[in-house]
Amino acid sequence: MAKTNKIWLSSPTIHEEELQFVKEAIESNWVSTVGANINELEKMLAESVGVKHAVALSSGTAALHLCMKLAGERLDPGAKPGQTLRHKTVFCSDMTFDASVNPVLYEDGEPVFIDTEADTWNMDPEALEKAFELYPETKLVVVAHLYGVPAKMDEIVKICRKHDALIIEDAAEALGASYEGSTVSGMCGSLGDYMAVSFNGNKIVTGSTGGMFLTDDIRDADKVRKWSTQSREDAPWYQHEELGYNYRMSNIVAGIARGNMLHLSEHIAQKKAIYERYREGFKDLPVSMNPFETKAEPNYWLSCILIDREAMCRQVRGEREYLYISEPGRSCPQEILEAIAAVNAEGRPIWKPMHMQPLYRMHGFVTAKGYGRAVSNAYIDEGEFPDVGADIFERGLCLPSDNKMTPEQQDTVIEAVKRCFGD
Ligand SMILES: *Cc1c(COP(=O)(O)O)cnc(C)c1O
Repeated sequence: MAKTNKIWLSSPTIHEEELQFVKEAIESNWVSTVGANINELEKMLAESVGVKHAVALSSGTAALHLCMKLAGERLDPGAKPGQTLRHKTVFCSDMTFDASVNPVLYEDGEPVFIDTEADTWNMDPEALEKAFELYPETKLVVVAHLYGVPAKMDEIVKICRKHDALIIEDAAEALGASYEGSTVSGMCGSLGDYMAVSFNGNKIVTGSTGGMFLTDDIRDADKVRKWSTQSREDAPWYQHEELGYNYRMSNIVAGIARGNMLHLSEHIAQKKAIYERYREGFKDLPVSMNPFETKAEPNYWLSCILIDREAMCRQVRGEREYLYISEPGRSCPQEILEAIAAVNAEGRPIWKPMHMQPLYRMHGFVTAKGYGRAVSNAYIDEGEFPDVGADIFERGLCLPSDNKMTPEQQDTVIEAVKRCFGD
């Protein structure tokens, strides 16, 4: 089969407006980090997410870095750049892309990972509460919404307020998702103290790359805009009074994101249809879809499944290799990922939890029961996973969720998964 027929996990879906906006930028020579596309994109984002200010940046990671710096300076006004979180514990979602967490290290903070709950696959409020008991000095929490499913923000916000902690909301995967809670409600990207979204190539809206800082505070927006352009002061020459970064978005990238943004609700509808089609297709299999709460409306960025414990065949994962043993009626993520690849489609394992990553293995990890690592062996002896995150990583996987996938192509994937559970 030709390469072009490959069914992708989530590839960029580009329309006509993107080309138009990029063309306008090139023809008018506004190709650098100033221009109409940037201004319009910022306006669109602020409006669609429901915040007062948006600052376009080169990536979601850059947006998260500047979120950390703002939080760090607020917690310690005298802190040095690159050390604004120095020696400070920062509670972080554990099962996420590592770009959620790396910026904590850019600012010399100490991530402590909070286990995942089973209802939305996000930060477990119970484990978060436990973490505040164990690390009572902590004043910053980084919470991500996995695969476009909002976290339990009512509980998380309540706990953070009680402990006087700031929230960085990593909404990189959750643009267009919303949450109707009793403590907080609104669009993802408006639910924290500092918010970031991403326009990376596989996100629900793409600029080919890029990200956005979101806030209601104009002083924070001004700081981020200044830091992102090497901290130039308002002077006739290049005047620098604090450390800056080259983090601003280009007007070309903004043109792509601006055009793509016009199709956000269409993309969500396509992704939702894919999710529901999988759910229907798998209703007789021992699997469940990635779950969400009724007060949350996901953007359905990626469709995932979790295999029932009883239906798992044996699977062992080392750091870089795996083995599994096929069994009739049972399967495992690695077997299914191979079966999906064999029909020229792309799946992906669940984000490997941060506390299991060699980079972060020495950092603290808290489950609802307490120190995650201290209890692990006892649970492993009982044949159970010591924490929810490791369990979802073990039994879950992301399915091809590309907007452009046809129903026939999706059927091919569904059949391939079904065969894994056959005799
Ligand atoms: C994609 C992603 C990021 C980073 O965004 P980039 O634009 O790729 O830098 C951060 N956090 C999460 C959860 C993501 O999925």
